[in-house]
Amino acid sequence: MKLIDTHCHIHDSEFFTPELQNDVYAQAIESQTGMICVATSEKSSQQAVDFASSHADAWAIVGVHPHDTKDGWNAVGELLSSRREGIVGIGEIGLDYFYMNSDRDTQIAGLEQQLQWALDYDLPISFHVRDEKQASGAVWDDFWPLFDNFPGLRGALHSFTDTKAQLEQGLSRGLYVGVNGISTFTKDTAQQELYAWIPLEKILLETDAPFLTPAPFRGTMNQPKFVGRVAEHMATVRGVSLDLVSESTTANARTLFSI
Ligand SMILES: [Zn+2]
Repeated sequence: MKLIDTHCHIHDSEFFTPELQNDVYAQAIESQTGMICVATSEKSSQQAVDFASSHADAWAIVGVHPHDTKDGWNAVGELLSSRREGIVGIGEIGLDYFYMNSDRDTQIAGLEQQLQWALDYDLPISFHVRDEKQASGAVWDDFWPLFDNFPGLRGALHSFTDTKAQLEQGLSRGLYVGVNGISTFTKDTAQQELYAWIPLEKILLETDAPFLTPAPFRGTMNQPKFVGRVAEHMATVRGVSLDLVSESTTANARTLFSI
């Protein structure tokens, strides 16, 4: 595999029919791209495990997204305790104060349980942390103390688009940073400067498919093979070769997720 899309949702029947799943998987393999299928709910955790077990270059991350904590997370614990093959992490878990689809206390309770599982099963985490609409930093004021209560956690800040100060908080805790198609279309110069600044040994590439389709494919459904566009953009913005970005980020993914 040349590239690994470290965060996609193509296993999820809410977005992809079985036919479409097979099609985008085949296209990814043709572009030498492997993929990590990240769950958002109890149901999609099971689907991620099923997809990974039937596709050689797909792996599963199980967990409940902060939006869905209102519907429970116990089934994830059962999947983990069954030690199903192909589970390489826990996610996407975290806090989302932008929409508040689950209330704050429920989000925190779900996060704490899943952080404990990450330690119990020695698995890395795909974190989803999104601040409230006023971008006050409130979500991080809650998140970092929770994180620090569980020494030994490792993982990545998926789809990171926050400030340099928060990025430094993450790097100082050894976290990786997930970069996706947003990098190819954002006009935010501070964000572009951050993409150039993140240490290469801490970058993971991802698509978040079916969301966040990179330029120039905006308007079509995102899929793992488009992670190549993110790699190209990172090479351009950092002034390095595509090979260097590809080799480094794939090595990072293999190291963090033991794949
Ligand atoms: Zn996602």
